[in-house]
Amino acid sequence: MELFATAEQMGHEQVVFFHHKDSGLKAIVAIHNTVLGPALGGLRMWPYDSEDDALTDVLRLSRGMTYKAAVSGLNLGGGKSVIIGDPKKDKSEAFFRALGKFIDSLGGRYITAEDVNTTVGDMEYIFTETDNVVGVPEVHGGGGDPSPLTAYGTIRGIQACLNRKYGHTDLGKASYAVQGAGNVGIHIIRKLREEGAKVTVCDMNQARLDECKEMGCEIVDLDAIYDVDCDVYVPCALGATVNDDTIGRLKCDIVAGSANNQLAEERHGTELEKRGMIYAPDYAINAGGLMNVAIELQGYNRDRAFRQVKGIYDIIENIFAIADRDGIPSWQAADRLAEERIEAMSHVKLPHVERRSKRMSGRRPKA
Ligand code: NAD
Repeated sequence: MELFATAEQMGHEQVVFFHHKDSGLKAIVAIHNTVLGPALGGLRMWPYDSEDDALTDVLRLSRGMTYKAAVSGLNLGGGKSVIIGDPKKDKSEAFFRALGKFIDSLGGRYITAEDVNTTVGDMEYIFTETDNVVGVPEVHGGGGDPSPLTAYGTIRGIQACLNRKYGHTDLGKASYAVQGAGNVGIHIIRKLREEGAKVTVCDMNQARLDECKEMGCEIVDLDAIYDVDCDVYVPCALGATVNDDTIGRLKCDIVAGSANNQLAEERHGTELEKRGMIYAPDYAINAGGLMNVAIELQGYNRDRAFRQVKGIYDIIENIFAIADRDGIPSWQAADRLAEERIEAMSHVKLPHVERRSKRMSGRRPKA
């Protein structure tokens, strides 16, 4: 890869390669944009086939985090890190503590968190060496399981979609097809059933399906979820489920769920709208988890986290307003909202006022 040419095209500020011979650590940190604040994004561990694959992944994911943080109104930039290695064999205390030291050397420009194949325990090792990590255990000021927050944000986003389509926010008046009753999906399903909604669910986990049946949901086969006649399709399992094969089968008015990368390609978001469906951009509607960890930096407070996540309703409405203003599909409007915020803040010179006290100083002070 021509790294500088790629960085120029994608807009990255900094890409750092870390190697620690004794522990076998090989990691890449990509800092995409820090106009709004320090770059925050998870640490992924994957047995990549090549260094190029790892680099491509970290560049793509870090850019995504810039957009997600910006659209969410957070004072954070976008970054991400990847470790090249087998999560079953290569992890050790030394491995993560070495990475913690390396992350600390970035002086707060990058803050890491859990991601695919990394755990709270791994974050705890990193936390031994640096404060620049979130998603730490609750005893260290962490926020705990983000899934209920992600689910709540998704529910708020669904309500914004209901309001746009039907002029009301009453969850119980609509019908839903939920794909995946996992950590996030099960909370969404429970809330929808509490509100009296008709809910159809698919999953391959029988225990979760039994739980859903108990709540009064209808169960369908995995592939049949796309054919369910409903108001809202709620993808909460895999990415790329809105694709050439499924789009013609969807019988809903709204696509709004927690899954990452729901559109196989951006053109599928445009196609949904051409077919009269509303799409809640995935990285905006599922930002509850990011908001939850970001609050750790100011001193974690669950009520505050829920209050912030509640605002996902307004974020989704804002995206629709930009879509209407500019005559563009919602996926593009989300990008524009993020880009406009970064652009505006990059020009604003705020008057300096000495800040005497930080009401929520948060993390343990450095000795
Ligand atoms: P999870 O692994 O707990 O749940 C996923 C569920 O989907 C599982 O129950 C699994 O059995 C099921 N599943 C897998 N393949 C399926 C298929 N083909 N059809 C139907 N069901 C299938 O994951 P999660 O934490 O609930 O996350 C769900 C989605 O939301 C993921 O895409 C994740 O990236 C995204 N997300 C999660 C969070 C969070 O806070 N957990 C935050 C942002 C985004």
